[in-house]
Amino acid sequence: MYNQFRQDFPVLNSNFHDKQLIYLDNAATSQKPSSVLQAVKEYYQKHNANPYRGLYGLSVKATDAYESARKLTAEFIHADNPSEVIFTRNTTEALNLLAYSYGRSVLKSGDEIVLSISEHHSNIIPWQQVAKEKGAVLKYLYLSDDGRIIEEDLEKKITERTKIVSIAHVSNVLGTIHPIEKIIQKAHSVGAVAVVDTAQGIPHYPVDVQKLDVDFLAFSGHKMLAPMGIGVLYGKEKLLNAMPPFLTGGEMIEIVSEQDATFAPLPHKFEAGTPNVGGAVGLAAAIEYINHIGYETIQNIEEELTDYALQELNKLPEITIYGDKVNCRKRCGVISFNVNGVHPHDTASILDGDGIAVRAGHHCAQPLMKYLNVPATCRISFYFYNTKEEINLFIQSLKKVRRLLGYGN
Ligand code: PMP
Repeated sequence: MYNQFRQDFPVLNSNFHDKQLIYLDNAATSQKPSSVLQAVKEYYQKHNANPYRGLYGLSVKATDAYESARKLTAEFIHADNPSEVIFTRNTTEALNLLAYSYGRSVLKSGDEIVLSISEHHSNIIPWQQVAKEKGAVLKYLYLSDDGRIIEEDLEKKITERTKIVSIAHVSNVLGTIHPIEKIIQKAHSVGAVAVVDTAQGIPHYPVDVQKLDVDFLAFSGHKMLAPMGIGVLYGKEKLLNAMPPFLTGGEMIEIVSEQDATFAPLPHKFEAGTPNVGGAVGLAAAIEYINHIGYETIQNIEEELTDYALQELNKLPEITIYGDKVNCRKRCGVISFNVNGVHPHDTASILDGDGIAVRAGHHCAQPLMKYLNVPATCRISFYFYNTKEEINLFIQSLKKVRRLLGYGN
């Protein structure tokens, strides 16, 4: 299957262990197209200065580059206003900002925060920390065997005591697409705020914060073609305005006296210190790339790959797939599996010997591993530049694993 997008990604031509790289760890981070690399390089070559501070031309250019990136990001997620887009380092920092600023100021003893059992640690630990401090309680929505949130659980666990519901759009382990529209509506019906971690969603699916009516949204640039070190927290203006700052220092103030300070308006109140302008420029170039090829193309390619990979994996007798094993429409191209009797690290090492990059471990989701009753899994994850040929080579390599470790098949 010819994939016209591969030529845009220089790293895809690399060799590892004298084999052509097959990169199947896109849920960890995506590769970067030349247009993103070029945009970042050009920024540093032509426009680099500390934004906001200088009255000279170069600083104004840096400020323009940063603020245009914010405007484009706001348009991309259909935010009402660019100042609802706060640049962070990544999803983790966005969720910490939220827990420490919003969570700490609204939670009281006995209040409840509802998460799903499939959350990444970055959508668990900040809430745990704040819950401990405030005497709040964490409740978890559990999953069916095919990785879906159980409807009755949703009805039962989100109650008048719930103040925050924070859910991943797509599970980074099972690939399940969670019903975020329904969850947001349910949260609002009890007066709770709804937070969506779309770190694994927005690289593959369009997100419209106004249509969803989501209160807060978090994602990382590096999983959607942008450089590492730039992420986003979207929040409704009214909520962000009422929140205290998270990090404090330069850039986020209005007036500072010996004993006190007043804070800058949005979005600067939440962006202390020198920002990652190069990262924001890279994110803007990544958004332009995604807009150019379109989500429909991305989804068509990924559905075909996921369908094919599930079909081929299901043919192998000694493989356990976690979550939905067949339906590629209700899940995305993140597939967790184990080779029966083999530690996932051994599987990943054997695949690496064939130049195939997959992830093995708990995927920063230890509560989910416990729920699934496995210590760890192997995970493959696709992006639109992967091909069926790569899946064939992966399956060929996987077939060797048990044999190499002394099993008969
Ligand atoms: N949430 C989900 C669902 C993720 O998959 C990840 C990254 N694996 C994160 C949050 C954290 O992202 P980051 O490390 O970029 O902060």
